Order: sequence, then structure tokens, then C-alpha cells
Amino acid sequence: MFKFLKILGRNLKQGPSTQIFPLGEAPTPKRFRGRVVVDPSKCVGCGICKHVCAGRAINIEPDKNKQGYSFSVWHNTCALCGMCRHYCPTKAITLSNDWHNAHLQSKKYDNAEHHFIPYSRCRSCDAPMRRLPPELVLKIYTDKSLDMMPLLSLCPQCRQVATAEREAPQVETTTQEPLLKKETNDE
Ligand code: SF4
Ligand code: SF4
Repeated sequence: MFKFLKILGRNLKQGPSTQIFPLGEAPTPKRFRGRVVVDPSKCVGCGICKHVCAGRAINIEPDKNKQGYSFSVWHNTCALCGMCRHYCPTKAITLSNDWHNAHLQSKKYDNAEHHFIPYSRCRSCDAPMRRLPPELVLKIYTDKSLDMMPLLSLCPQCRQVATAEREAPQVETTTQEPLLKKETNDE
């Protein structure tokens, strides 16, 4: 009895030793893996997250009119493993601190996040195309002498033409070089 009164007195003086949930919010650790959040402005529709998703919680479907694609995350089946965040090349996926995932069985199909992500347009031919974030391109092409930025707003076909036009003088030089060497050897 004395011990109980001692603990009670200490708790009244210092406050409770345990979290007061559900009467207050329970803090989460910094690296807690909670509900998946998608930033549509960063997504390029590569599909890696869907490929690695253990819970088959992610679905990416191209639009019938080829104007974009739909992106869905079903929180009901998400296992919070974090693989989608780990492999997303543009950091479009984060795992928040939100752990409030309890829901009625009848609401399981509502417990999802849906986005329609439109394609951007080629500045030359106006064809719909997937967006290429500059930060991702700079990460891939580390050679700073290559100016990739003007090519980012072109579709793959126009990009090929533009690259060929840009590289044409160098192509002529490289094709002529072996011919000159051959003439020298023949002498
Ligand atoms: S991995 Fe990232 S960029 Fe690729 S589709 Fe998923 S969210 Fe979008
Ligand atoms: S956290 Fe894991 S289970 Fe959830 S959507 Fe991402 S890859 Fe799928």
C-alpha cells in the first residue's frame, strides 16, 4: 500500500510515465514508417515503386487518352516496408509519421490515395511525354560539358533529331579521321 501511494504521489508530481493516448497525441520516432505519401509533382511514372511493392499496394495505369497516368496507393494493403521510398529515383514517395490507419472493413476501398498525373508536352511537336526532372538528369549525366537542359522539354523523337543536329559536326570529324589514317598507312 505504501509503495502504491509512493508511485501515485510521484506520478502526480512528475506527470504520468506512459503516453496518455488516446487522451493526447503519441509522439513518433523520427524514422517512424507511417502512411505513404506521394508528391505527384515529382513522380515521373517510371513504375519502380509498383515493381518493388511487396503489398501490391501501388497501381499505375496509363490514361486511355494518353494524356497522363493514374497513380494509386492502397493504404489498406500497404505493409509500410518503405521499399517504394527507397527505390523511387525522384524522391516522390515519403513515409509520413501518420500511423492512423484504423478503419471499418466497409471503408477499406476508401482508404487510398489517388492522383491523376498529366504528361507534359514536347515543345517542338506538342506530343505528350513523360516529364524529366532536371535534378534527375543532372544526377545521371555527370559530365557538365553536356548541356542536357534544352533537351528536357523535347519528346524522345525530337530529342534524337536535336541531338543529331547538335552532334553533326563531330560525327563528320570522327568518320573522316579513319579515312585519313588509312591513306597514311597505304603510302
Ligand atoms: S518510383 Fe517514384 S517516380 Fe517512379 S512511378 Fe513510383 S513514385 Fe513515380
Ligand atoms: S511501403 Fe512497402 S507495401 Fe507500402 S506502398 Fe511502399 S513498397 Fe508497397
